[in-house]
Amino acid sequence: MEMATAMESVAANALRSVLFRVQQAAERSARQSSQVRVVAIGKTKPVSLIKEVYDAGHRYFGENYVQEFLDKAPQLPADIQWHFVGHLQSNKAKTLLAGVPNLYMVESVDSTKIANHLDSAVASLGRAPLKVLVQVNTSGEESKYGVEPSECVQLAKHVKHECRNLEFSGLMTIGMLDYSSRPENFESLSACRTEVCKALEIPEDQCELSMGMSGDFEKAIEMGSTNVRIGSTIFGAREYPAKK
Ligand SMILES: *Cc1c(COP(=O)(O)O)cnc(C)c1O
Repeated sequence: MEMATAMESVAANALRSVLFRVQQAAERSARQSSQVRVVAIGKTKPVSLIKEVYDAGHRYFGENYVQEFLDKAPQLPADIQWHFVGHLQSNKAKTLLAGVPNLYMVESVDSTKIANHLDSAVASLGRAPLKVLVQVNTSGEESKYGVEPSECVQLAKHVKHECRNLEFSGLMTIGMLDYSSRPENFESLSACRTEVCKALEIPEDQCELSMGMSGDFEKAIEMGSTNVRIGSTIFGAREYPAKK
């Protein structure tokens, strides 16, 4: 046990409170909190703040802008399991993998093209297979990335059968544009998992559901999420600079 000091970081305290809420939500859904990964999303936040959460013992972090990720990852410890959760252009796949050797998972694969680029980037760098999630647009908004729910089986099959350097690991969704996913979106992702697991002949516990963010992670866990992506509740509200 580590002793709490008088100078606890605000972000570290926020993390602890999130982990406690995760545990309670997991219990409500008759699961253990060890079955739910909390990915701390540090986008727009400084490396020093991420390090505070790391020093509190956390190891799962995520980013969603490639350039920011490439700047920050090398300044942080190598035993972080990084998740990339943003939109990825295929010409950036190799740069991302080369710049973040400890990239653990890409959660936002939404086309065969990006899957193929990631696959060949892994091969050319000779790194371990990369876990990927297929991103599904469950809210039907045109502004959202992700395949339609009706297309998730096809893309999951492609990853599993055609991309030998990728490890198909499940499905991800964001939900509504204001980041407040709704239960319908979570139900839709869960239904996608049922179909995908049937088509791929894999058990459901081998297909993760990445759903739930600051505003809705407890609901998402109650509905089966195995991976919640939490930014502002841990790191504080984001301030975006005015567009140049
Ligand atoms: C920013 C972001 C999050 C975290 O959002 P919060 O509401 O701040 O918790 C989660 N997922 C994705 C894809 C994001 O871009």
